[in-house]
Amino acid sequence: MLRVESISVRYDLLEAVSSVSIDIKQGQIVSLIGANGAGKSTTLKSIIGILSLSRGKIFYDDVDLTHTKSHDRVAKGIVLCPEGRRLFPRMTVYENLLTGAHLNRGSRLIKKNLNDVYELFPRVADRRKQVAGSLSGGEQQMVAIGRALMSSPKVLMLDEPSLGLAPKIVKEIEQAVKKIVELKGISVLLVEQNANLALQMSDYGYVLEKGAIIKEGLAKDLSGDEEIKKIYLGI
Ligand code: ATP
Repeated sequence: MLRVESISVRYDLLEAVSSVSIDIKQGQIVSLIGANGAGKSTTLKSIIGILSLSRGKIFYDDVDLTHTKSHDRVAKGIVLCPEGRRLFPRMTVYENLLTGAHLNRGSRLIKKNLNDVYELFPRVADRRKQVAGSLSGGEQQMVAIGRALMSSPKVLMLDEPSLGLAPKIVKEIEQAVKKIVELKGISVLLVEQNANLALQMSDYGYVLEKGAIIKEGLAKDLSGDEEIKKIYLGI
């Protein structure tokens, strides 16, 4: 469905991502794990088109998107839920959710997506009239995922959804993401520093170190890999 072929991304002199290839099939959860500064966010930003590639190509359903503008990628269903949620704190939860729907034509689809978000996250429904800045970190993360869902994604990219959240909330978010994949048949590319969580949730995983993929495989195999256990799982 989404094929990232040997991409490299530079920030001036620094090559932050070097020859990274990622393949995501429909209905899969694929994780990209790695330490701080490994190049995970840079990879996601280049897939969405905020950063341009110095080398490589990006294909979606075999269509070359390498030179497609970011908003056209979103319109095709590639959607990023960014690190740090990036909500509008003075706008209500409802208004924040609607900002995710700006490319949707037709109020029927907007209403349906909104109902789906409220069903998935009842806490978000309860808080819909509240300003987003008054919500807890976990609730804000739910709104951020909800906003991404308002764009009718086919490939949902989540950048560090568990960051700074209590284990109970992380569990809720994990279950919601699995439910979205089951119900809507979409694919998820999950970026996490919490490798335990990522591998437990996903079908397939990639390990990024200093901008390069050093290992990939079925998530269950990666979880059992001695080197990964030692470095990333703290076992
Ligand atoms: P984190 O979990 O800390 O966000 P990450 O794996 O997502 O880490 P990136 O944010 O992609 O890593 O950063 C990869 C490398 O690129 C790092 O060395 C970082 O310092 C550098 N970098 C990131 N953004 C920029 C920028 N705007 N300008 C220059 N260098 C940058």
